[in-house]
Amino acid sequence: MSSPRRVVLIGLDCVPPKLLFDWYAGDMPTMASLRGRAVWGPLASTVPPITVPAWSCMLSGRTPGELGVYGFRNRRDHRYDRSAFATSDWIQVPRVWDLVGAAGGQSIVLGVPGTYPPSPISGHMVSCFLAPSTDAAFTHPPGLREEVQRATGGYVLDVADFRNCPPASAAQRVFDMTEQRFELAAHLASSHPWDFMAFVDMGPDRLHHVLWQHCDPAHPKHEPGNALSGVFREYYRALDRHLGRFLEVVPDDAAVLVVSDHGAQPMLGGFRFNQWLVDQGLLVLRGEPRPGRLDPALVDWPRTTAWGDGGYYGRLFLNVKGREPQGVVPPDRYEAVRQELADALRALPDHTGAPMGTRVFRPEEVYPEVRNIAPDLIVYFGNLRWRAIGSLEPGGSLCTFDNDTGPDGANHAEDGVFVLAADGLGGGRRDGLSIYDVAPTLQSLLGLPAPPAQRGQVVA
Ligand SMILES: [Zn+2]
Repeated sequence: MSSPRRVVLIGLDCVPPKLLFDWYAGDMPTMASLRGRAVWGPLASTVPPITVPAWSCMLSGRTPGELGVYGFRNRRDHRYDRSAFATSDWIQVPRVWDLVGAAGGQSIVLGVPGTYPPSPISGHMVSCFLAPSTDAAFTHPPGLREEVQRATGGYVLDVADFRNCPPASAAQRVFDMTEQRFELAAHLASSHPWDFMAFVDMGPDRLHHVLWQHCDPAHPKHEPGNALSGVFREYYRALDRHLGRFLEVVPDDAAVLVVSDHGAQPMLGGFRFNQWLVDQGLLVLRGEPRPGRLDPALVDWPRTTAWGDGGYYGRLFLNVKGREPQGVVPPDRYEAVRQELADALRALPDHTGAPMGTRVFRPEEVYPEVRNIAPDLIVYFGNLRWRAIGSLEPGGSLCTFDNDTGPDGANHAEDGVFVLAADGLGGGRRDGLSIYDVAPTLQSLLGLPAPPAQRGQVVA
């Protein structure tokens, strides 16, 4: 490999600029010293800003549309009841470690979302939190599993049951997992050769989702003086200590990138997306409407125009004649119906009657190519301050303060973070950085050519 230097990417899932650069900046001496010699700033995420696909987009320089991955679950075909988890097999474009391998270099990849099942890379891979358990083949080479288990005393893929255990135990599990992830990263970095190393810790994401309301006085559910109000600050201090210890095993001339895939913000509540469509007469049910998950078998499809899928963002699907099995929207009415729905969604009020500020995207306008089955509309309720609730609650209010998938205090936000320290790069705050700039920048540092069709620019 012609690479003049090694590069390490430290991924902190869900870390927003406000926490890293503002609230806890004074609690993080290692980060302060890194930022002192780095280009740093907010990093605009993918549309939608969701872990899967965001990390794969970051490391390939391609959009969710080009990957054909729009979230954890994706429609497999146009039938109503076929969805699948997006595994690593869905990612058909090279990620940075593939380019490193093709050039004769070695990579270490640890916990990067979008890497289960692990691929036979040139180097070492410990796959991500979507591995079902450590009994599964979650490493490449397979023998690495033993080493990982020995080094960690039992590798933790993700925080177990974090939404349903008491918040204090969830926090403790997050602290423990983060410590273990950084220690394993240091172990792998010092015991195997690498030109490129990338590891991701899901700890911040889990902590933010479970505990945001405890730590942010601006959260509507915040109780001043609660016992966990200092836990974010403690966590960012711990993160900084782990970062400092990890950097001790990184050679001085290596470039260091700390990055997140998206940000986070207080979740104000949830919007009952499918219930709204039912109320509009656009989603028609057979028989008495029942509260709970939308069951495709109970939908009167020949009378249904549209349905939605919930989550941190909303996916709206139109029931199109000739496309869905019992489609009704004539193809020549598709644009008009989609426009009416987009207008109605943008006009939605919140629980006080004030405009919610919902944003709506058409996939073909935000992606250069749309593979597999994209939502017909991508919906950010209240610009992601409100979650999309897919389950039904006949007669209930459309705005709710309960969540159908368990307690959750935070939603994702568009801006993540970018901190890149590399010799000769200079430093200072930079605005306008995009998640699509990461892969071209890594390739440039590693001395690799850019694959065709990548968007983004080298941060120099
Ligand atoms: Zn994420």
